[in-house]
Amino acid sequence: MDTTDTLLAMVRAEIAKACRIARRKPEDVTLVAVSKKHSAAAIEPLLEQGHRVFGENRVQEAQEKWPELRERFPDVRLHLVGQLQSNKADDAVATFDCIHSLDRPSLLKALAKAMDKAGRRVPCFIQVDVGEEPQKGGCAVADLPDFLARTREADIPVAGLMCLPPADIEPAPFFALLDKLARDNGLDGRSMGMSGDYPTAIMLGATHVRVGTALFGERPGT
Ligand SMILES: *Cc1c(COP(=O)(O)O)cnc(C)c1O
Repeated sequence: MDTTDTLLAMVRAEIAKACRIARRKPEDVTLVAVSKKHSAAAIEPLLEQGHRVFGENRVQEAQEKWPELRERFPDVRLHLVGQLQSNKADDAVATFDCIHSLDRPSLLKALAKAMDKAGRRVPCFIQVDVGEEPQKGGCAVADLPDFLARTREADIPVAGLMCLPPADIEPAPFFALLDKLARDNGLDGRSMGMSGDYPTAIMLGATHVRVGTALFGERPGT
């Protein structure tokens, strides 16, 4: 086993362990391997091992890196995990199978238009600003019911809710809040948990964990 094999096995084991504690099924948790800033060569070992769900945070980087890999591994599913500018909506709809950062009316409009044009509906998580940190993006908690209704009116498939809790403080209360908001709004999907806290997120209901560093090591240039 090379390093990446070991890291993937370790993360899978951690997911299984958190699921056992929470009495959940590991197959109900999707591991989104966040490969941003990593080269195709760094991604290949995960593909060789059968992993197929990856996350990128920039449309252009994904467009440069993934077409070739996708030719060889056509069943890859690409998730957009970063903030999205409205003017990139067409490219995002063409490139990604799931978007985790739908968070404002202007983006909603742009994505709905892009999906109509492409004849392709891409499921979106609504990002919620659980920590009241507007700079991170995210729909305010109070605005969520209205924003959710508008998303459905625009015929955008809602995958669930997503959050990025504030850094450097215990994330569990924010995960619990996202779980409650999802439940209150009748949504199954919860995209929460990164390398530092995905086991906690799983115990609190995460259905999608977005893990980069724990799978690939430190990102180049960081
Ligand atoms: C980079 C990124 C991740 C992965 O972060 P790690 O700490 O490397 O696991 C998850 N979610 C989002 C939105 C990101 O931008």
